[in-house]
Amino acid sequence: MKVEIIPCLSDNFSYLIHDKESNKVSIVDPAEYNACDDVIKKYKKLDFILNTHHHADHVGGNLELKKKYNSKILGFELDKDRIPGIDILLKEKQKYKIGNLEFKIIFVPGHTKGHIAFFFFKEKVVFTGDTLFSLGCGRVFEGTHEQMFNSLNKIKKLPSETKIYCGHEYTKSNLDFCLAYDTKNTFLKKKEIDIQKKLNSNQPTIPTILDQEIKTNIFLRCNDHEIKHSLGLKDSSDLKVFSKLRDLKDSF
Ligand code: ZN
Ligand code: FE
Repeated sequence: MKVEIIPCLSDNFSYLIHDKESNKVSIVDPAEYNACDDVIKKYKKLDFILNTHHHADHVGGNLELKKKYNSKILGFELDKDRIPGIDILLKEKQKYKIGNLEFKIIFVPGHTKGHIAFFFFKEKVVFTGDTLFSLGCGRVFEGTHEQMFNSLNKIKKLPSETKIYCGHEYTKSNLDFCLAYDTKNTFLKKKEIDIQKKLNSNQPTIPTILDQEIKTNIFLRCNDHEIKHSLGLKDSSDLKVFSKLRDLKDSF
């Protein structure tokens, strides 16, 4: 499984997936036609388009790419009326195979009502769209804080070595937020150095590894005593802490 990172728009990531053995080519969340097609051209084909959710910055290239390559578009069944050009309706926990690559649908509502993640369980690679970012999580637009919290916990339970490919390069501003509210975290300080190196050399900070996120991403650390304490929520539930952090981040 080869994953090519395609920076799109101002801070989006689209991803091209190539299965060398079967020569199947797929793209996750084509944000725009031109940037994606520049990479797809090398392969001269695009078999599948995978959408995590319906937002324009994730489906913007759908129709033009489908038209050029006669691709099939996969998205969640709930979003059948909002994902442009959708052909194949996916269900929660469904498995789907493209060539030799197989993935499972993880239903992760919160950012939108029909948001899904694509988990390639043999390769241990997950595409999280706008649900989990490096050091952050998506805004809660259509769902509830509780849904988003539960969705993040589903991703948190994947194998710790899982590689995470998310929808945006938001890592720097997420890092600043984590540093502000998780002041004593030594893992975070190490990660800061690594992130700065990548950004200084114009490299994406993606993929990140789940194990690192669990140690550094404040939204996955709502059970941490130090964090609870620093928020004045010593005796509150993890969900309450999550909701507070999400609200603080919205205006950070
Ligand atoms: Zn979105
Ligand atoms: Fe987005």
